[in-house]
Amino acid sequence: MTSTQTRTYQVRTYGCAMNVHDSERLSGLLEGAGMVPVAEGETADVVVFNTCAVRENADNKLYANLGQLLPSKKVNPNMQIAVGGCLAQKDKAVILKKAPWVDAVFGTHNIGSLPALLERARYNQEAQVEIVESLEAFPSSLPTKRDSAYSALVSISVGCNNTCTFCIVPSLRGKERDRRPGEILAEIEALVSEGVIEITLLGQNVNSYGVEFGDKGAFAKLLRAAGQIEGLERIRFTSPHPAAFTDDVIEAMAETPNVMPQLHMPLQSGNDKVLKDMRRSYRRDKFLGIIDKVNKAIPDAAISTDIIVGFPGETEEEFLDTVKMVEEARFSVCYTFQYSKRPGTPAADLPDQISKEVVQERFERLLAVANKIAWEENQKQVGKTVEVLVANDGRKDDATGRLTGRARDNRLVHFSLPEGVKRPRPGDLATVTVSEAGPYHLIADPKTSSEITIRRTIGGDAFERLNDEAETKRVALSITPVK
Ligand code: SF4
Repeated sequence: MTSTQTRTYQVRTYGCAMNVHDSERLSGLLEGAGMVPVAEGETADVVVFNTCAVRENADNKLYANLGQLLPSKKVNPNMQIAVGGCLAQKDKAVILKKAPWVDAVFGTHNIGSLPALLERARYNQEAQVEIVESLEAFPSSLPTKRDSAYSALVSISVGCNNTCTFCIVPSLRGKERDRRPGEILAEIEALVSEGVIEITLLGQNVNSYGVEFGDKGAFAKLLRAAGQIEGLERIRFTSPHPAAFTDDVIEAMAETPNVMPQLHMPLQSGNDKVLKDMRRSYRRDKFLGIIDKVNKAIPDAAISTDIIVGFPGETEEEFLDTVKMVEEARFSVCYTFQYSKRPGTPAADLPDQISKEVVQERFERLLAVANKIAWEENQKQVGKTVEVLVANDGRKDDATGRLTGRARDNRLVHFSLPEGVKRPRPGDLATVTVSEAGPYHLIADPKTSSEITIRRTIGGDAFERLNDEAETKRVALSITPVK
């Protein structure tokens, strides 16, 4: 503890972008309760695990981490440990049985109750468990401590109405609940007024947005409306679902300049029988049809995907259909996962569960094909001029001293600065020409100032302002600087 009163906190996040956003709210709640982020390398007074339940080893990882914290808790009896997120929603009080030194367990629908649960646990000297089965209120009204000054996650819906047989999310996050468009647009306007220039619209299934208030075209309308917001440079979204991916969304992407030419759309398998067993409610041709339409409407779009290898019953031929699909679709990035049996999902009870060895072998084969294609697609970017949203100004950890950021199609770009060019800030935009391509990134080494354009943005201003404020606060609190 740095001073007698000020408690430090740490939020450890596992899983998807929804969890990352929930963790920003957990940090906001703890700072609202007067706590400060712990310095790197130190053990916090309050440690919160925001857990994921998608993969089998998620449980093992959590209990291993909780075990590692027990000695610190013995040293610091004021220390508190809380567990939230999907695994807490699934396991509830089981967590206390397995780790009785945990002080609070809360679910995915009541993250707002964390500070009260910690207070109650401290006051009653007794662990608190509070899990609710459905969302009372959208967590968007909770205080948020964003990780970035110029980029923000904005949730448009929670939960999912689909029933993919391998997925545990609907049973933990509930049926889809949609925020009203006006509320979302107001939040985006408020974020832009704070200096945010890039937003990512979040939902388990963004393109079924509006189902709750009966407007099938609501997502495309939301993209267009957000596109009108002055000062907003970049709009991204995750995750769409192929089954509900409609032409109006492609048109909205193509006709709204600040909607980025990037689409991450989970395929999961390239074989129709496996897609049927997964209950993914689309087939190969529909998926390829969408890819085709997107490539025609947005020629420079980068399309990435998720694929599960080794789903129960998947034969070698069916696996090869997936490999062929990856070769045909030519994804910019292909996130490949080994099937993970999740108790409580229909797929867990399917016959013909495939051995780990066969799954591992298929996984490696598909990864090799996907990475080769990703690199070939990256090589097509050489010579192209790209606009990069600077994320890291290269002073801290890039051995080459290159700066790093994301292009409009979300490709990672490392770029150097020619002699005499002023270093842009994180949040500024730099336009450079790609000179080299790696498997997962692009490189740009402009030689003279005429080969690079830097545009200072309100995002860069926000980064500078918050950096100065944090420095003032650190000095005031005279605690070790947080790296
Ligand atoms: S769409 Fe399927 S995989 Fe995605 S969250 Fe919903 S049930 Fe899970």
